[in-house]
Amino acid sequence: MHMSPFHRYLLPLALALAAAAARADEPVTTIVNSARIIDGTGHPALENATLTLRGDRIVSVAASGSAQPPAPAGSRVIDAHGMTIIPGLISAHSHLGLVKGSATPSVENYTRENVATQLARYEGDGVLAVMSLGVNQDVLYQWREEQRAGKLPGADIFTADRGLGVGGGVPPFPVPSGQVYRPGNAEEARAAVRETAARHPDLVKLWLDDMFGTLPKMSPEVSAAAIDEAHRQGLRVAAHLFYLADAKALVAAGVDVVAHSIRDKPVDDELISLMKQRRVAYIPTLALDESQFVYAEHPAWMSEPMFRASVDPALLANWLSSQYREKINGEMSTARNRQAFAMAMRNVKTLHDAGIPTAMGTDSGALPTRVAGFSEHRELQLLVQAGLSPADALVCATSRSAEVIGQAADRGTLEAGKRADFLVLEGNPLDDIRQTMRLGAIWHGGAPVIPLAKRPLPTAAP
Ligand SMILES: [Zn+2]
Repeated sequence: MHMSPFHRYLLPLALALAAAAARADEPVTTIVNSARIIDGTGHPALENATLTLRGDRIVSVAASGSAQPPAPAGSRVIDAHGMTIIPGLISAHSHLGLVKGSATPSVENYTRENVATQLARYEGDGVLAVMSLGVNQDVLYQWREEQRAGKLPGADIFTADRGLGVGGGVPPFPVPSGQVYRPGNAEEARAAVRETAARHPDLVKLWLDDMFGTLPKMSPEVSAAAIDEAHRQGLRVAAHLFYLADAKALVAAGVDVVAHSIRDKPVDDELISLMKQRRVAYIPTLALDESQFVYAEHPAWMSEPMFRASVDPALLANWLSSQYREKINGEMSTARNRQAFAMAMRNVKTLHDAGIPTAMGTDSGALPTRVAGFSEHRELQLLVQAGLSPADALVCATSRSAEVIGQAADRGTLEAGKRADFLVLEGNPLDDIRQTMRLGAIWHGGAPVIPLAKRPLPTAAP
């Protein structure tokens, strides 16, 4: 869509003025007119509709022509003609503080400064809440408190604490015991979950994987004990897994969230009926599987302004090199990764069609190749490529993600009383899901944020 000068240049200015006004003691009412509104519930889009917010909350979402109370004196009015409003995106599976730039994960990266940079990047790409699904240091709770007190900007933090892995196994990062538990038996697993529960996480995380038979896998006794103890503590459990057989065993043992795609075999009726009975949710993390090989193909989206604004420049230079292409094409694992990705694409369609609650997550931040902020938009595109409608993909990335991460009932949809977390898109994502990358404006907790791709480029070093 061709943008008018108003939308391209004056809209951010109008938003900045609204923000300045919002600093006054009384929360200002802002009325965004004439937009298409997709509210995240799965209801049809409203055309030419009006969204009203006051302070950090939505006051109303009204269809065109519906009666509305008169605007309070001092209200700001913004014309969003031709634009589409969607709820802020929510990643139900990402990681904070593991990576920095192009370097591999390291304990040194878990700093306030690095996490603040990552949160700002997610927010600047329209991802307004992030579940850091394991491998966290306990200091994350302190940063979560700072954020709730308004002292740490960026995407809102949700956490699955350290998580429970396996000694000598997954997660295969060189992280110390203060960042992941590796219980050797059921009693140690229960003790780890009790210690975790005392810190009040949003979820508990388990890893159940042998990395293609190369690493030891968590035993059924340990995973069952962890799940049982979490439920006793009033917590839900999300599991990293790969294989269909492990998914069945974990769902039977009571796991609440399958946190990656099942990638070895097509899902079957047995798994589907087990998941439906227990309303187990699914986070396919398709962008993760694609990231293992796709950069060597130089897809067109690598030229997108949002991608360029989000990716580390050294990584990008490497991916664009012929050496990288030769390396990926020459690796034994590439064919296997492509098969896993194809199976993941097939299984998400089957599970979503069967009515399994499907959330959006990417594993962004676990490795530098999973580009925080951009990956979430790529995941939407992959959900559509897998056969979901754009409207359904948007539900996954908003209300369904809010449900899955827990403690997030105040977000994920655009309804009266919910947080004023929304994105103003320059095009219609129902026509083309790639339009979510065309961020005209971002509102987070009622405050406007300039999209990353619209900020001035840093000046080159002399
Ligand atoms: Zn992960």
